[in-house]
Amino acid sequence: MPHDTVLNGGERETKPADGQTSSAVQNSHQSTSTVISRRHLLRGRIKPPADALLPPWSHPPTLFYSRCSRCDACITACPERLIVRGDGGFPQIDFRQGECDFCRKCLEICEDHALSGEVNPPLPLRPVIADNCLPKRGVACQSCRDGCEPMALRFPPQLSSGGRGIALPQLESDLCSGCGGCVAPCPVGAITMVPKANLTPEGA
Ligand code: SF4
Ligand code: SF4
Ligand code: SF4
Repeated sequence: MPHDTVLNGGERETKPADGQTSSAVQNSHQSTSTVISRRHLLRGRIKPPADALLPPWSHPPTLFYSRCSRCDACITACPERLIVRGDGGFPQIDFRQGECDFCRKCLEICEDHALSGEVNPPLPLRPVIADNCLPKRGVACQSCRDGCEPMALRFPPQLSSGGRGIALPQLESDLCSGCGGCVAPCPVGAITMVPKANLTPEGA
């Protein structure tokens, strides 16, 4: 990219790159503004979603949204169909559609460098299991474990009478890849993937 484009209150603002003249920046800025104005006409004002789960290898949100051109390339490339067009036309992950197998097709097709192979881990997410989880209500279920290839979900036996003998899911966070494979199999939609950074040390 010849210049850096950053979001500023929902709008894009162009900053000069090293060695770039102000007139070059102005011309570049006019060109960018024209493109964005057309997009505004077609799709409304740019408004990045606040809580969307970004595709694997995404830069942190501010940088990601400044680079993503909403070209849909990663959406089309994903063989699992789990990248969907979200608010504002930006791509986001919907684990109800499937799990990420880290095939790198989205990463390799992103020409705007909104995704980067230097981002590690690619999906810094962890599952959070809500209170409608069936075993928490006394009903046996281990469906999420079946969707977890890394075997990060365990169901240790409940020995106390309060547990009524039904095993509860437990996450081995160090084994979890953030793939989201446990989300879709849950029959009651009890699992939500959340950024690791939003969790307490015990949950992460
Ligand atoms: S790595 Fe592959 S499966 Fe995962 S989101 Fe990208 S294209 Fe889809
Ligand atoms: S997100 Fe973690 S717990 Fe869920 S299926 Fe993937 S590795 Fe297993
Ligand atoms: S699949 Fe859902 S309901 Fe079943 S144990 Fe896992 S989180 Fe609980």
